[in-house]
Amino acid sequence: MASSTAVPPSAANAPSLKGSGKDVSTRNGMEDSVHSFKAADLVIELSQTHKAKPDLTNLVFGTVFSDHMLTIEWTSNGGWQKPHIKPFGNLSLHPACSAMHYAVQLFEGMKAYRDADNKVRLFRPMLNMNRMAKSAERACLPAFDRAELVECIRRLVQVDLEWVPKSDSASLYMRPTFLGTEPSLGVKKPSRALLYVILSPVGSYFSTGAKPVSLWADSKYIRAWRGGTGDCKMGGNYGASIYAQYEAVDYGCQQVLWLYGDDHQITEVGTMNMFLFWNNENGEEELATPPLDGIILPGITRQSILELTRKWGEFKVCERYLTMADLRCALKEGRVKEMFGSGTACVVSPVGRILYQGENLHIPCQEDFPQLASRLMKELTDIQYGRTQSDWSVLV
Ligand SMILES: *Cc1c(COP(=O)(O)O)cnc(C)c1O
Repeated sequence: MASSTAVPPSAANAPSLKGSGKDVSTRNGMEDSVHSFKAADLVIELSQTHKAKPDLTNLVFGTVFSDHMLTIEWTSNGGWQKPHIKPFGNLSLHPACSAMHYAVQLFEGMKAYRDADNKVRLFRPMLNMNRMAKSAERACLPAFDRAELVECIRRLVQVDLEWVPKSDSASLYMRPTFLGTEPSLGVKKPSRALLYVILSPVGSYFSTGAKPVSLWADSKYIRAWRGGTGDCKMGGNYGASIYAQYEAVDYGCQQVLWLYGDDHQITEVGTMNMFLFWNNENGEEELATPPLDGIILPGITRQSILELTRKWGEFKVCERYLTMADLRCALKEGRVKEMFGSGTACVVSPVGRILYQGENLHIPCQEDFPQLASRLMKELTDIQYGRTQSDWSVLV
C-alpha cells in the first residue's frame, strides 16, 4: 500500500513535509521563504460552556459544530502568528475582506472516526494537506508547513474528543478553511490571511438506506474548465454550481452529472468523483475514472479506490476519458456493471439513473448497492474505523 505521506507529482513545488522551521516554495517563479506556524506554539483557551451533543439519527450535514475551533493568522509583514484553539464563535472580518469580494478562499473536507475501543483516527490527512497547499498556491494564499497543520488539527480533535461520535457509521467532519483577509478592494495577492478549522459531527450518510442517486446530465452549465480552478477546493467553484443543482431538481434528478467539451466527457457527479465499472470497448473488465487533467478535483477517496483496486489486481484500472456516447453505447450493449460517485462524505454513492437529452438512462444497480461499490465501502470504512490495520489511518 502506498505511504500516506506520498506527495503527488503536482504538489512537487509545495513546501517540504519536514518541519525544518523554514519552508521554501517556488511561486510565480519567485523564491518565497515561509516561516510556518508550529503546533508547539499552540495557545489553548478552553470554552467555559459545553453545548449539548446532537442526536445523530436525524442530523442535517454541517449544521452543528463542536465547542472549539483552531485559528491561525498570517500577515505579509509578520508572517504566521501562533495557532490558537479557542471557543467556537463568530469571526470579525473587515467589510473589504478579499475572501468576500473576490473569493480568495479555499477549504478542505476530512473526517475523524472513533473505533469500538474509543480510539480516534484520521484518514490520510497529509493528502488533504497537500491538496490544501496546492489550492493555497492557486489562490495566492501563503504556504504553510503541512505536517504542522495536521498536528494542530490533531490537538483540536483531542480538545473536542467527546464530539467524535461513538458510532461505527457516524464521524466528526473537519472543515479546514483558508481566507484572504486583505482589508482593501484591490484585486491582488492578500497581505493578510486567516486559516481556521471547525468541526461538525455528522451522522451516517446512508442513515435512510442507500438509495442510488439520479443525475441530470446537460452541457448547459460547466463546473470547471482547463486553466480554471476546478482541481482546487476553492469556494467559488461550489457557489457557482448551486444554480445548476436546482435545475437538476426541477428535472426530477438529485444531482448534476457534470459534462465537459463538445463530446460531453463525463467529469464529476455533484461534488463527487465518478467511477464506471464496465466491460470496455475491447471487452476488458475495467474500472474507469476521468484523469486529473485540471478539471477534476483530485479526491482522496478517488485516489484510495484507485490504489486499492490496483492492489487487488482483479480487473483493469484506468484513468481515462469517458463520454456520454461511450456510456450510452455500453448501456445499449449491456456492458455497464456499476457507476458510482466517491467522496469523503459518502465514501461511495451508486448512480441509478441519468437523464440525458430527454432520455432516462438506467444504470444497473442490483440490490441498491452493487457489488464493487459495497466491497469498496467495506474496505475503506474498515480502515477508517480501525477494523483493518493500515498506514492510511493516523491515530489522534
Ligand atoms: C471534495 C470533492 C471531491 C471528493 O474528494 P475527497 O477527497 O474524496 O472527499 C470530489 N469532487 C469535488 C468537486 C469535490 O469538491
